[in-house]
Amino acid sequence: MEGLEPEAQAAVDSAVSAARAAFTAPVSLADRTERLDRLEAMVRERADDFLEALALDLGKHPTEGWTTELGTVLAEIGHLRKLLPEWLRPRKVPAAGSLAPSRSWVENQPLGTVLVIAPWNYPVQLVLSPLAGALAAGNTAVVKPSEVTPHVAKVLVSALRDYLGDVVGVVTGGVPETTRVLQHRFDHVFYTGNATVGRVVMRAAAQYLTPVTLELGGKSPVWIDDTVDLGTAADRIAWAKFLNAGQTCVAPDYVMGPPEVLTRLEPLLVAAIRKLYGRNPAESESYGRIVTERHLSKLTDLLADVAAEDVVTGGARELSQRYLAPTVIRSAVDGPFMRDEIFGPVLPLVPVEDHHAAVGTINSGEKPLALYVFSEDDDVRTAFRGETSSGGLVLGAALVHLAHPQLPFGGVGESGIGNYHGEYSLETFSHPRAVLDKPLAPDTLKVIYPPYGPLKSRLAKIALGAPAPSTVVRKLLNR
Ligand code: NAD
Repeated sequence: MEGLEPEAQAAVDSAVSAARAAFTAPVSLADRTERLDRLEAMVRERADDFLEALALDLGKHPTEGWTTELGTVLAEIGHLRKLLPEWLRPRKVPAAGSLAPSRSWVENQPLGTVLVIAPWNYPVQLVLSPLAGALAAGNTAVVKPSEVTPHVAKVLVSALRDYLGDVVGVVTGGVPETTRVLQHRFDHVFYTGNATVGRVVMRAAAQYLTPVTLELGGKSPVWIDDTVDLGTAADRIAWAKFLNAGQTCVAPDYVMGPPEVLTRLEPLLVAAIRKLYGRNPAESESYGRIVTERHLSKLTDLLADVAAEDVVTGGARELSQRYLAPTVIRSAVDGPFMRDEIFGPVLPLVPVEDHHAAVGTINSGEKPLALYVFSEDDDVRTAFRGETSSGGLVLGAALVHLAHPQLPFGGVGESGIGNYHGEYSLETFSHPRAVLDKPLAPDTLKVIYPPYGPLKSRLAKIALGAPAPSTVVRKLLNR
């Protein structure tokens, strides 16, 4: 394969074959719990290494590293461990009268060996949270951290080898390595990243009919009107947008509202940013960095197309520091930042006539990963709930739905396929096997065997609740 040395190919192949060989069924509750325990110990005992790597790769403050990465993973592990005994119990379903006597139930089985491919923006969480689900469901796994955050990838390699090397393989590298790993057969592929690569992953999985989960992104809009406390809303929007320097898949991408509301919102957003990061965010330890100079250049190129009078605040940058100030701009619906997901600390305020126009704008684009509505008006809330579709919907806040362990997390349409977190992870990484247990005596099944006649026809109708047959069918049945 182009660009991949034979040793690198062999490293990928052996990571996959080791994980495959490590899968043996059944996988007991005790084994699953023990693997989750080891994952938890790894996160706790290697926390300093992870936090240091996050600071180097993304300028992430250790507190933010805890709240949005390590703590999130620990909460997920704890929740999964709690769910597991219930999840593994065969779930009885009522007996079907037509099949009496018999008993039926559903039992969740592991899929086998799964592949987890992760991006760089939450490079610990987005490897370890899906992995926790995969292990809880009894699978072995191969994980592929992002090459864009090399310090985190290095810690993941050594930590996973030390704590879970018997059941988890790690493949490092970029496109050639990922292409190679995707040539292997897996029982599920879980990809987080952009939709272009999502399509590459789905095509590769199709050759084996391997199911995929695609956790993608897109533009997550905000609606705001004057029925809410604009100050609190500005604080919540600014926090959600500028966390991780805007590099969050569910970050508010742009804000729509009536023109006069957005005018009132502007100084409140400026004040909110100052509360979060001080007068000069470049000096704030709480403010993150753009992951690479290339990613920063994409943002500054777009900013070059924004007129100076449309910059409400921010715009300052320092390429060598990978710094871009929290930036708020005024934008038209078709402005330079309105084409693609921004994925950086630039927040366009987009005036629209009313919420109907906002719904129209949302529905004219791809289905978002998240939608945020700041309104106390029941009609407005009902309109966004009923007339739009998105992965998640949050009323009165942004981002926080991710922290609820009982809510599914995933997209719809262009923002993704499938869900995870808690029981949704268990569903994603398990097969619900249908089991029916029917004694051989009495042999009730013979009532439906040929040859057919009037008695069997009547019995079949009673058993299966068939509607009265038409004259033609009746004639046929009574033949
Ligand atoms: P990325 O560049 O790190 O890519 C993700 C993974 O895909 C990496 O492991 C990378 O090596 C691999 N990859 C890249 N190109 C490939 C190719 N041609 N073939 C095979 N593999 C390839 O991350 P990214 O895509 O820049 O991440 C940002 C995107 O991810 C945004 O759109 C964001 O919204 C989305 N995202 C979604 C979620 C979610 O949970 N839904 C979370 C985070 C990010």
